[in-house]
Amino acid sequence: MYDEEVQYHNLNLSSNDNHSQLLNLTATNNLSNEELPNNLGLKNKLQSWVLKYKVSHNSVNCILNIMKSEGLNVPQDVRTLMQTSKSHEISSMGSEGTYIHFGFEKMILPVLNKFVNAIDFTITLKLGINIDGLPLAKSSKSQVWPILVSIINCKIFNNLVFPIGIYHGMKKPPCIQQYLHEFIIDLKSLLDNGFEINGNILRFEIGHMTNDAPAKSFILNVKDHNAYFGCTTCAQEGSYKERRVVFLEINSPVRTNESFRNKVNEEYHKGDSPLELLPINIIDVVCLDYMHNVCIGVTKRLVEFWVKGKKNVRLNETSREQISTDLINLRVYVPSTFLMLHTHYLNTLDLHCREIMHLCFKRCAYTVS
Ligand SMILES: [Zn+2]
Repeated sequence: MYDEEVQYHNLNLSSNDNHSQLLNLTATNNLSNEELPNNLGLKNKLQSWVLKYKVSHNSVNCILNIMKSEGLNVPQDVRTLMQTSKSHEISSMGSEGTYIHFGFEKMILPVLNKFVNAIDFTITLKLGINIDGLPLAKSSKSQVWPILVSIINCKIFNNLVFPIGIYHGMKKPPCIQQYLHEFIIDLKSLLDNGFEINGNILRFEIGHMTNDAPAKSFILNVKDHNAYFGCTTCAQEGSYKERRVVFLEINSPVRTNESFRNKVNEEYHKGDSPLELLPINIIDVVCLDYMHNVCIGVTKRLVEFWVKGKKNVRLNETSREQISTDLINLRVYVPSTFLMLHTHYLNTLDLHCREIMHLCFKRCAYTVS
């Protein structure tokens, strides 16, 4: 769909703009054949080629020299070709962490300018925000915490994710206020003022923030999800049963934007959250995360019970074999991005969320039939 849009708008990607690379990369990676797009200039084609095939800088410099010697107008150095930024404002955070802020204006505005003819200025663009930690290596605790933003209510931006800031360190950012400081200032300015494009103001609002449970409690600056006051939806106190905290009440007072900001439930909060600086309904915006709660939360527990649970709920060998056979028969009807769930996975409980989603899909299919 995105490729069609790119071709439809006959984009002439400029070479003096870092975001051309982003657009080129996305457009090129989505191509169904191996050809590079024909509607790009020589420099853009070279950029796409370098990004697509991960060509080494030495090789690119060599080919640039050959092309230059043949009289072609190409840069002499790969860094000029790829518009590698010469200066990075990397700030230190804590004793061993660093943070770089790219910003909305630098990351999103050039892309909006490219698609200006396809934008409806009467609608407010909704932002989806994701903040999470990602390990970089198995041999060390090196990790990054990117702040990622997407535009969720405009079809042409469906495939784009914009990194707005990235933290790197050997552990998670030491202080949530410091980590999100620049991002919150930048975001607040965007929500208040929008972007002016060709004399029109384009407005923004936050659609949702999705984070896994540890990142969510970190950003909200509240107790962890397994604490007695760890429920982000209601204010009940959990009770400790069979080595876990459980929330058994069903009529507890729900948390609201006001109760959160006024810290009505004192035991829930660790301190102020940077999100309080934004003109948003915090409780509505920071939503429950389907993948972690359902796919690799409740569903994973159910699968564990069916495979390793007590006898009265455990599937027998024949049933597991039957499920495996059914899954193989269903293969032709399942998108290729879903890995197949085999008996092997059921037996070893080596479950990845995609397999679990697949299992959900299958159980839904059973229920429907
Ligand atoms: Zn609750």
